[in-house]
Amino acid sequence: MAERMLQFVRLPQQTPAKRDVQTRREDFGEIYQDFDTPRAEAQASRCSQCGVPFCQVHCPLQNNIPDWLKLTTEGRLQEAYEVSSATNNFPEICGRICPQDRLCEGNCVIEKGFESVTIGAVERFITDTAFDNGWVKPISPRQERAQSVGIVGAGPAGLAAAEMLRRQGYQVHVYDRYDRVGGLMIYGIPGFKLEKDIVIRRWKLLEQGGIVFHLGADIGGQTSFADLRARHDAVLIATGVYKSRDIGGPGAGLPGIVPALDYLTASNRQGLGDDVPAFADGTLDASGRHVVVIGGGDTAMDCVRTAIRQGAASVKCLYRRDKANMPGSMREVKNAEEEGIEFVWLAGPEAFLGDTAVTAVRAAQMHLGLPDASGRQSVEVMEGCHFNLQADLVIKALGFDPDDMPTAFAEPALAVSRWGTLKVDGKTFMTSLQGVFAAGDIVRGASLVVWAIKDGRDAAEQIHAYIQHNATIAVAAE
Ligand code: FAD
Ligand code: SF4
Ligand code: SF4
Repeated sequence: MAERMLQFVRLPQQTPAKRDVQTRREDFGEIYQDFDTPRAEAQASRCSQCGVPFCQVHCPLQNNIPDWLKLTTEGRLQEAYEVSSATNNFPEICGRICPQDRLCEGNCVIEKGFESVTIGAVERFITDTAFDNGWVKPISPRQERAQSVGIVGAGPAGLAAAEMLRRQGYQVHVYDRYDRVGGLMIYGIPGFKLEKDIVIRRWKLLEQGGIVFHLGADIGGQTSFADLRARHDAVLIATGVYKSRDIGGPGAGLPGIVPALDYLTASNRQGLGDDVPAFADGTLDASGRHVVVIGGGDTAMDCVRTAIRQGAASVKCLYRRDKANMPGSMREVKNAEEEGIEFVWLAGPEAFLGDTAVTAVRAAQMHLGLPDASGRQSVEVMEGCHFNLQADLVIKALGFDPDDMPTAFAEPALAVSRWGTLKVDGKTFMTSLQGVFAAGDIVRGASLVVWAIKDGRDAAEQIHAYIQHNATIAVAAE
């Protein structure tokens, strides 16, 4: 057992092995294999135990990374799990899908010269080991409280808040319009990044801890938001952002042009064994087709890699900037390149060709101009430079905006920002409505799972303070 830290000078960085490209293209299993215990201990021992750990500063949850790395090196895995789970509700999920290159690992001090400690992989190893050994237990509150909280949305923000509030003994009810728990973790993110069993394992544990899930419950639809408020002492809105940004131009309405989330949801549902008519009739199945995905973010990477696994005849990613300016994680771009996706950089769609369905995308060549007010280089069309890409399935992955929440919830007093996200008080997480809080993407705009967890935890703390404050006032008034 490696017991000394600071081994980075001796031991090179080793990430968990990836499955070979040919096999991984054929299924939706995760591509990274697990660390075994000696490898996890050795990789954790590379940490230099910084006095000011920049990894921790740049982790949205401020995870106590140096401590759990040291405990792992010493083989004290149960303690490592306790430290790691004290600040993170779903460490095994963050270990798998956080863009570590932009967060903890990207800021690890040994990154320059020695390559960072493999923080995410060790975090995942610790919690997977904890599950294997039965150390992860359902919530068992010390006291039951009479007050209840209604949470709209069973994504990571809603789930993290639900867990924290249930630990305090509240009666927690989570409402979701989907039939499964997890939000984008179940129906957005593909299995090759996050296997569905990992999400379902958490769902079952939360249920065993006494959280009540109301699935197929569309708030603002069959249940009004006003009814929900009347039922609970406080409400948290954690509904995420789902309105896909669209694209115009000639032919944009042709059959065969589909939004990314419809496509990914159909694939995830199919993998979960659901009956998906739009998959069965081929509308949302890339098998045997020439696929063009438009966009350069993580959603676009998930689409191209899903299409490859479905057996597409060809898969191209059309992005108007160059590789260096892609918004997606470089790790995911590399994985996509390895799997055979062709990137068409500096090109954007001008028109979609076809009579009864799309047959090609007409693309214009772009070049990067001077930086704009945001500091990003502007994109300019190169006059007269066009080309056609064969395509009988075009997937639009251009990002997401919030739904019109005041209308959806029939609450005109629900204040929104100019981007349509919910406005909350920076300290209390309360919206413009008394006793109604909000967290996750619906406040930040499309973001990351780790930020949703952070917001859910912070909002839960504020909801607890709010309910207790009201209870004190009620007692004083008696
Ligand atoms: P969501 O996860 O969107 O959950 C919101 C929930 O609210 C949903 O279950 C929805 O059904 C429910 N809901 C909405 N409206 C209602 C209503 N009216 N009534 C009842 N229920 C309602 N992040 C990462 O960190 N790493 C990644 O690799 C990554 N990959 C991604 C890939 C894709 C394709 C997408 C789209 C996103 C990805 N993200 C990734 C982002 C991440 O998934 C989100 O930031 C995160 O899930 C937001 O959490 P949330 O709880 O705010 O919302
Ligand atoms: Fe890194 Fe994400 Fe884990 Fe924080 S939660 S330590 S950012 S992988
Ligand atoms: Fe260890 Fe890197 Fe964090 Fe320093 S920054 S404590 S070396 S993981």
